[in-house]
Amino acid sequence: MLSNGRQTLAIPGPSIMPDRVLNAMHRAAPNIYKGELIDMTRSLIPDLKAVARTAHQATIYIGNGHAAWEAALSNVLSRGETVLVLTTGRFGHGWAVMARGIGVECEVIDFGMQSGINADRVAEVLRADKGGRIKAVLAVHVDTATSVRSDIGALRKAMDATGHEALLIADCIASLGCDRFEMDDWGVDVMVAASQKGLMVPPGMCFVFFNDKADRARENANCVTAYWDWRPRANPVEYWQYFDGTAPTHHLYGLRAALDMIGEEGIGAVWARHGMLAQAVWAAFDVWGSEGPMKLNVADPAKRSHAVTAVSVGSPWGDRLRAWTEDVAGLTLGIGLGREPADGFFRIGHMGHVNAHSILGVIGTIDAGLKALGIPHGRGAGDAAAEIIAAAGRVRTDIAAD
Ligand SMILES: *Cc1c(COP(=O)(O)O)cnc(C)c1O
Repeated sequence: MLSNGRQTLAIPGPSIMPDRVLNAMHRAAPNIYKGELIDMTRSLIPDLKAVARTAHQATIYIGNGHAAWEAALSNVLSRGETVLVLTTGRFGHGWAVMARGIGVECEVIDFGMQSGINADRVAEVLRADKGGRIKAVLAVHVDTATSVRSDIGALRKAMDATGHEALLIADCIASLGCDRFEMDDWGVDVMVAASQKGLMVPPGMCFVFFNDKADRARENANCVTAYWDWRPRANPVEYWQYFDGTAPTHHLYGLRAALDMIGEEGIGAVWARHGMLAQAVWAAFDVWGSEGPMKLNVADPAKRSHAVTAVSVGSPWGDRLRAWTEDVAGLTLGIGLGREPADGFFRIGHMGHVNAHSILGVIGTIDAGLKALGIPHGRGAGDAAAEIIAAAGRVRTDIAAD
């Protein structure tokens, strides 16, 4: 009975959809041949680029994150070529599966579940690759299973220092619109994202951003097929070419509303908000973990995502806690992903349409669940989180984005 009232989804995607997004989608089917939809779609491109922090190309696909993975790879690679996949959890491995599926060889450096990419190790591998066999380096900015965030700018610098020609392709599916990401400044050649995480739109749309170097690789790539080809999508002559078919009409209206919200807040302020809220979450865990089994997966705050937090609590308490918060209190937490035993882990999504009050609600609800289930924990987590929020409310939240 305590779960009646508005349910809260705190999983790392799909994320909470703002009323403004939902309302924008709630409309009759529009004309796809002329009129408002055409101009509205065109208006999305510069705003998508602004969120990605790129002056280069942006393309939209109907598909989820997996589709974006395949789209990015197929435009720059040929069958039999090799990519270097850097894994920091689960998603890099999934990306490698997609690469192998289109006939690309994968060399994997596994950085484990708790530390980010070590750029020096990547540089070593590239230096040893004298013949330039490795065509691209695949890096996940935030691995959603582990909540590890890697330093993509440092990776690029280390790659450049080797003089190696490999493209840098980044997965920002979890991080875009949450954790600071600078496509052009950091020298990322291709970036993939999806609609349902920081962008606050239902799953079903994904995005591939690419620069000129990546587009030159497209020249010789024999993996690319007509549907995945990014060129007509980036430079459509006819409206249907944006999507290679019918437009995802309602998703586009939802995205328009979401990009308006991000634009009004300012991307720097969006990043700062996620940073402050993540600190409140971490502060709560520091207290809970002071007595008992609760533990953040990533020890170093500099390597933690601001969009998602992975936690170990010991089997079977992850599953029990999730069941309690959902059934008794109306809060859905994320499952333990890619960990054994999975029921000893859970994750909190704090991406997109989240604010101080919603995060304090998540923390207070977890606190109640720990008490209800008799899971040992330090007392005062809500207090610690409230201190962070109180302090954040007194400082500037608009860190410079430009
Ligand atoms: C969610 C996610 C994906 C997969 O996206 P789908 O839409 O589920 O295909 C890939 N990479 C990362 C980092 C993600 O967070």
